Amino acid sequence: VTETRMIAEQLAKVRRLSSLGQLAATVAHEFNNVLMGILPFARVIAKRGTGDAQLATAATSIDRSVSRGRAIVQQILGFAQPAEPELVRLPLGDFFAEFDEDMRPQLANRVALVINVPADMAITGDAIQLHQVFSNLVLNARDASRAGGTISISAARGLTGHAEFGVVRDPSAFVHFRVTDDGEGMSKETTLRLFEPLFTTKARGTGLGLAVSYQIVQRHGGHIFVESTPGRGTTFHLYIPIAPPEGVPS
Ligand code: ADP
Ligand code: MG
Repeated sequence: VTETRMIAEQLAKVRRLSSLGQLAATVAHEFNNVLMGILPFARVIAKRGTGDAQLATAATSIDRSVSRGRAIVQQILGFAQPAEPELVRLPLGDFFAEFDEDMRPQLANRVALVINVPADMAITGDAIQLHQVFSNLVLNARDASRAGGTISISAARGLTGHAEFGVVRDPSAFVHFRVTDDGEGMSKETTLRLFEPLFTTKARGTGLGLAVSYQIVQRHGGHIFVESTPGRGTTFHLYIPIAPPEGVPS
């Protein structure tokens, strides 16, 4: 009975989100047009204003705000009109070598990123979308960390015959990733609302990162869970389908 109710609730939520999603996509497109209308004028000011420091600063501010607005629009569109994942075999060694390189500048030596994954273990997934998921998790971990903190990513095949988190029925069909930080952690209320679109505790947050990540993981047939202790840190658990041995069709 509980399970049936859960599924009914989930379906209702999906319907509500899909009509909201259409609205959000329309608003995002319109908003993007507005931003694109502003940008060329900011550039004109930037060009003409050389010599006038105040004008140059103003132009840079406009440019930066417009860029931020566009990044938010892209996130909203990504959420409202999600692309079907293009599933391919992704060996963890290659995937995380590239990921590591992309993240470094964004961590800026303030926090360490330690990646410890079996290089020849492979998952079945969409490289761009999963990159987005891991990058959302790592950037959130960075935001929650003090200088000198450590973020770690580890991976292992899920255990056989264990219902991990009471939900993952066949964990051995997945690679189990842990993304851990030793940052500020979060309250119980936050853990309950994390994946909600637009839920944020940050002054300049969008509240879209985890909502988008949740959706991507769902579309991969995977799972995502969070464990957190205020003051101690947070671990996100991610289950992504393991790739069949090479040469075996999936
Ligand atoms: P945003 O980063 O824009 O706030 P997210 O959807 O990425 O939106 O995250 C939602 C909220 O979840 C954050 O505002 C923060 O409160 C909380 N959160 C996510 N990851 C962590 C973490 N590693 N440590 C502490 N809080 C976190
Ligand atoms: Mg975020």
